[in-house]
Amino acid sequence: MIVTIDGIKCNAEKGEYILDIARRNNIFIPTLCHSSALPGQGNCRLCIVEVIEGGRSRVVTACLYPVTHEIEVITNSERIRDMRRTIIMFLYVRAPKSYRMKRLGEEYGVHPEQRFEIDEDEDCILCGLCVRACEAMGLSAISMVNRGTSKKVSTPFDEPSDTCIGCASCASVCPTDAIKVEDRDGIRRIWGREFKMLKCSKCGSYFTTEEHFEYVKNKSDSVVEVLCERCKRDAIAEEIANVYSGI
Ligand code: SF4
Repeated sequence: MIVTIDGIKCNAEKGEYILDIARRNNIFIPTLCHSSALPGQGNCRLCIVEVIEGGRSRVVTACLYPVTHEIEVITNSERIRDMRRTIIMFLYVRAPKSYRMKRLGEEYGVHPEQRFEIDEDEDCILCGLCVRACEAMGLSAISMVNRGTSKKVSTPFDEPSDTCIGCASCASVCPTDAIKVEDRDGIRRIWGREFKMLKCSKCGSYFTTEEHFEYVKNKSDSVVEVLCERCKRDAIAEEIANVYSGI
């Protein structure tokens, strides 16, 4: 099936999301709450695009819109840019210090301070990506709590959670760096808890918490080595090089 995005003809499978088709074809659609490892939720709504069918246009969320037949998509029309400006305005007010929000503000000419009172201490845009990352880990140590203006992401009763293993997956997916992680002297502090960290058996650098390592080890069928990501990659590269040198 062919889907035409910004005039480019892209091959697509039935059921594929517009965002995935665009990314595969190097067509940029801005997102904040999307992670390729997690299903789309359309929370930030930044990935809105126009779908043209039968001469009529409608606005859809690219991360949630599966294609079922040949359509035309426009990702950056003036109408879309106007709508994105409004979305960015509201998100920017929530996270005024965020680098990504500043970049988006610059790109779209959005200056929320002209219209809203900015809370400099706020930095979460409530996209929910952290909650989904924790769920995907099989933990659900954090969730969206409260309603209205006091809505936020937190642990149950704002207390340090026994379910949390300090993996920092939530922080690593956060688009606005709202989740504070401090790794210092072999101790990780996150969500009001302190975790002892493990050293990589090869390079000796601290790389994750003991709880996270145990969790991964218990879930894995094979032996899990105490290696940081970089040393793991090096070991794989070395293995591949050895295979090729033996050919
Ligand atoms: S650090 Fe805690 S809250 Fe964050 S993803 Fe890991 S287990 Fe969940």
